[in-house]
Amino acid sequence: MGISQNGDLPLLSIHGFKPLDLDDLREQVHQTMDFIMDYYKKVESFPVLPSVQPGYLRHLLPATPPAEPTTFDAILCDLHRAILPGLTHWASPNFFAYFPATLSSAALAGDLLASAFNPVAFTWLSSPAATELESLVLDWLAHLLRLPSCFLSSSASAATRGGGVLHNTTSEAMLCTLVAARDAALRRSGGFAAAISRLVAYGSDQTHSTFFKACRIAGFDPANVRSVPTRSESDFSLEPARLRAAMAADAAAGLVPAYVCATVGTTSSTAVDPVGPISEVAAEFGAWVHVDAAYAGSACVCPEFRQYLDGVERANSVSFSPHKWLLTCLDCTCLWVRDTRLLTGPLGTDPEYLKNGPSESGSVVDLKDLQVGVGRRFRSLKLWMVIRTYGVANLQAHIRSDVEMARRFEGMVRSDRRFEVVVPRRFALVCFRLMPRGGMVEAQADKENRRLLEMINASGRAYITHTVVGRMYVLRFAVGSTLTEERHVASAWELIKKKADELLGVEVSPVPNI
Ligand SMILES: *Cc1c(COP(=O)(O)O)cnc(C)c1O
Repeated sequence: MGISQNGDLPLLSIHGFKPLDLDDLREQVHQTMDFIMDYYKKVESFPVLPSVQPGYLRHLLPATPPAEPTTFDAILCDLHRAILPGLTHWASPNFFAYFPATLSSAALAGDLLASAFNPVAFTWLSSPAATELESLVLDWLAHLLRLPSCFLSSSASAATRGGGVLHNTTSEAMLCTLVAARDAALRRSGGFAAAISRLVAYGSDQTHSTFFKACRIAGFDPANVRSVPTRSESDFSLEPARLRAAMAADAAAGLVPAYVCATVGTTSSTAVDPVGPISEVAAEFGAWVHVDAAYAGSACVCPEFRQYLDGVERANSVSFSPHKWLLTCLDCTCLWVRDTRLLTGPLGTDPEYLKNGPSESGSVVDLKDLQVGVGRRFRSLKLWMVIRTYGVANLQAHIRSDVEMARRFEGMVRSDRRFEVVVPRRFALVCFRLMPRGGMVEAQADKENRRLLEMINASGRAYITHTVVGRMYVLRFAVGSTLTEERHVASAWELIKKKADELLGVEVSPVPNI
């Protein structure tokens, strides 16, 4: 073959290659579906954390791309041979690390459909359904979380311009709100260049690290990003009095308090910052309040957890990630803002090649103006399908079931005198550790707990991660992987006890028959 004399590609390569051949599509998707079914059936028996070494994949796959086509069968073989052994199985029922990444058949179906339609819905016109479904489903969720109407796009008017948008991550939601808050603060204090170095943003020492990164990206001077210390006495929540002291000191020094990040359900230990009182403090200084409920926001679909969002009516923005705990696969972060114009100001663009009637009429939202990028996936489809397929009652049951499993796990930990639960359990995360034994210093206790964690994870039969709170090394047991049942929690606890026996050199006596 090769290029013909007049420089055109030979006709054969134009006609011979059909990347969206419908017969191939049916067959490949069916084969993929079989692969997935097989995976979910077996995932329970796989080591949750793989034991591969860095660079392992280069030894298993060719270093250069294939010139000729590879059969789909051969590719699925490679998945078995090279990819599965190096996967950390987030879908395993024995996965208790970090926070869960939940899944559901409705979300998978929705994601596949979104990929099939593949609209790049940057403006309303570029896909009206994608834009409108997004604002509808965000209003649905706002109802479910009982957010005040100021965050709903359906109640937006000339005076109030609330609404929601889907981002890929909390980090992006935080960055966009920081940029909005930054520009609002700069308008108040006159002039970009003069004032940007004076803006201050506040979180606590428990705020997610992505907040500090987003502040850097948004141009805040890292010296002006405060990490207000928390205490075990207040369960590691941000105390309004401490926040006020920090803001007042900065204001007195001629700085401009611009942004406060309150977290509902911190990543380390699910601490809850009191949103109402924090918003009150922030209001004294005219600062923006963002509520980061990445994980715990999902729990607030249940009335008994909604109290943790109390005060959100005073915040400027709130976000949570259904991809964490509401059965919607990655990526899916909901962000609501009280006034979308404060986002579209700094984030809006209006290039000639995207100009169109509806955008110019001002009667539609162009979602590219509420995010970092231009192109965007049709994410609302999977979220809408999850809510429709399961209904509110099942979503609530799903949360409650995880919380109940965590509650039982907590009971098991408390029943063993070698262990202690380190912070109160609020949702489905239990933070615990082996207690320091007679005369043991904290550093030794930390070492012992680190060793215990390594032993548990090396077994492959569960995966748990750790954190440090109040200078203590603690194990985090997060219930919520979609396939997890009570028996998995029970056997994880048996495993933990067995490894503790090994570590502490206890004679392992046979379990008595009762
Ligand atoms: C997980 C988490 C984040 C980070 O979320 P991304 O979507 O990965 O950016 C931020 N804040 C909290 C409280 C989290 O739990």
